[in-house]
Amino acid sequence: MVTSNFSQELEARLEAWQGQGLRRELRGLDGGQAPHIQMNGARVLNFSSNDYLGLANDAAVSQAARQALDRFGVGAGASRLICGSLPPHQELEKVLAAYKGTEAALTFPAGYMAALGTVTALMGRGDFIVIDKLAHACLVDAARLAGARLRVFPHNDPEGLRRILRWIDRREPESMVARPRRVLVVTESVFSMDGDFAPLRELVEIKDRHGAWLMVDEAHATGLYGSNGRGLVEASGLEGRVEIQMGTLSKAVGAAGGYIAGSRLLVDYLVNRARTFIFTTAPMPVMAAAATAALRFIQSPAGEQRRNALWQRVAEARSGLGLEPGKAGSGLSAIIPLAVGDETAAMRQSAWLRSQGFLIPAVRYPAVARGRARLRLTVSAAHSAQDVERLVAVLSRMSEEQQVGAGP
Ligand code: PMP
Repeated sequence: MVTSNFSQELEARLEAWQGQGLRRELRGLDGGQAPHIQMNGARVLNFSSNDYLGLANDAAVSQAARQALDRFGVGAGASRLICGSLPPHQELEKVLAAYKGTEAALTFPAGYMAALGTVTALMGRGDFIVIDKLAHACLVDAARLAGARLRVFPHNDPEGLRRILRWIDRREPESMVARPRRVLVVTESVFSMDGDFAPLRELVEIKDRHGAWLMVDEAHATGLYGSNGRGLVEASGLEGRVEIQMGTLSKAVGAAGGYIAGSRLLVDYLVNRARTFIFTTAPMPVMAAAATAALRFIQSPAGEQRRNALWQRVAEARSGLGLEPGKAGSGLSAIIPLAVGDETAAMRQSAWLRSQGFLIPAVRYPAVARGRARLRLTVSAAHSAQDVERLVAVLSRMSEEQQVGAGP
């Protein structure tokens, strides 16, 4: 019977996944996103979220969303090309472009969709996409979907990138490709799993020398680095030198949605060609209004204070864990990976931490390479010094009990 085959097949696949320590399960929360959450009736300290500035549950941002709800209702009705852009969508893109210092910006329902739509619109058969080995899954998926030839350069290795671009330069264009071959280099600026920084200046110099384009995903840098939290591209003095800046409004910005920032021409082109923009309903106006309010906050003196509070908490956590201190804005990130290696061991540690009242996820394949499982702990400005003290205490108890190393 078809149904029973189907169930058996899925069961077998899930069991195999489980056998490798890779099975996931959804866990319900009893309330909203915050540093202290309720899970199945128990209080848990949350070190798992990307809400780096504590804006996901911020009163002023929530108030802006409520006002948008009252004025514009819930749904956007259709794709923006069909039904038009509501005032919150227009305002968000204006605020984003000014914040990023670019001519224009375009928003998508998620960062994932921004990546998919943009890369597939720009690149096609006969082109090359050259991507950092540890770039996020949405960038890898985008590159695959584009149908271009994919090359991977070793993580944060400008020389590795240079070698590949030289190799591409030496190749003859294929006769069946009518237009000139394009090369797109893709990287994150702050990497999502290790919190390390891409050598953006070197990457820009190399791609310029080879006439390639560069797309930088600022998902984990937006709101955190540079003047007024503009991101690592700005902090590196590279405004105007990166063809495509991408990011999400779901992490430090605390809301949801993805964005592309760049030239007016790029945005006009994407409006015409990015399928994840064209063929999807516009985000809820509430989402856009929340993101706009958060971006305004991020650029205000209060936003600067919030970033300082974050770096203070990160410094406390790193010092408590015996890690190198790092300096805000030049190498310090709110993502602290605790290396484990084995998937099942990472799961066991994460479960033990939960039993002690701490939510720190075990990140496993395919989010990271096999055998490179880790606990990925993230610090937020919304944590108190006492929260961090408790974190340090529980982790040192864990390493005493289980002999766990922290790093890098
Ligand atoms: N890029 C990176 C580096 C990410 O970590 C994420 C989120 N996990 C995304 C893109 C996707 O963003 P979103 O959650 O808005 O789809």
